[in-house]
Amino acid sequence: MLGRMSLAVTGTIGIDTVYTPRERREGVLGGSAAYFAAGASFLSPVRLVAVVGDDWPSTHRDALGRFTGICTQGLETRTGSRTFSWGGRYFEDVNQRETLFTEVGVLQEAPPRVPDAYRDTQFVFLGNTHPAVQADFIDQFPQRKLVVCDTMDLWIKTAHGELLSLLKRVDGVVLNDTEAHELTGIRNAVSAARHITTLGPTFAVVKKGEHGAVLVHRDGVAVLPAFPAPEDRVIDPTGAGDSFAGGMMGHLARLGRTDFKAIRDALSWGTVVASFTIESFGPERLQALTHAELNERHEHFRSALGVGS
Ligand code: AMP
Repeated sequence: MLGRMSLAVTGTIGIDTVYTPRERREGVLGGSAAYFAAGASFLSPVRLVAVVGDDWPSTHRDALGRFTGICTQGLETRTGSRTFSWGGRYFEDVNQRETLFTEVGVLQEAPPRVPDAYRDTQFVFLGNTHPAVQADFIDQFPQRKLVVCDTMDLWIKTAHGELLSLLKRVDGVVLNDTEAHELTGIRNAVSAARHITTLGPTFAVVKKGEHGAVLVHRDGVAVLPAFPAPEDRVIDPTGAGDSFAGGMMGHLARLGRTDFKAIRDALSWGTVVASFTIESFGPERLQALTHAELNERHEHFRSALGVGS
């Protein structure tokens, strides 16, 4: 049995405004690092590296603090700065989202530093933020074994060169089909993922919302459907992508493995974690989640796939 490996996430903590076809919510705890950490914490302890302003609500701090697996030593609160905030609107087809606003706030200042206590981290997820900042974090983890990143339309459009430089330095990428298309110009998810592996990473995972995910790795290809959630259970898809990555990386960190088969299996944990995230606004459903519920749904998912272990 391999010992528990360490996992860290860098990225944003945000104050989100979310419009769904049925409801509007303001002041929701969000951000790439928050969703990742919340999702990963069920599978592995996770070290958070992020920065917020002094306007960050104490209710959000408390909510994050209630996830027992999240270490917040690397969460900096900067006086006089404003927390990143983001607004998005979902269409009737919940796979479709538009960004209403992005107020970068504290993100335009110096990024947070990785605490010395995190420097032995082996599994690193570079959640969404400016790709130059993501790249800068890599060197702050000298014992890294697996570095995976995410990106988003804003950075694909405004920081393309920096994103291509980042891709040369990571082992894997997790992104959605729209982003994969924007990045590569290729619409087909498998072809886009394959193209991404020619840009540097050993593997690319392309998520297709309710249509599942594909993994293209130098050692093989895998596909996985999404968890078959009935329509009325999908309340707010925000954070599905980040918490998917959290479940996936959390599983890899707990196994201490980085090979194709482990990544393929890890996709199912990402899928199941994300299926809970979308059942509420913000990470509320994850706050209420128990390990027993997570494991039970994972078992159901595996049996729905109709394949062995
Ligand atoms: P997801 O639904 O998984 O794509 O992630 C949504 C989360 O990403 C929201 O909680 C936002 O606060 C955060 N977010 C939105 N835009 C950006 C961006 N450009 N960079 C980093 N994080 C972002």
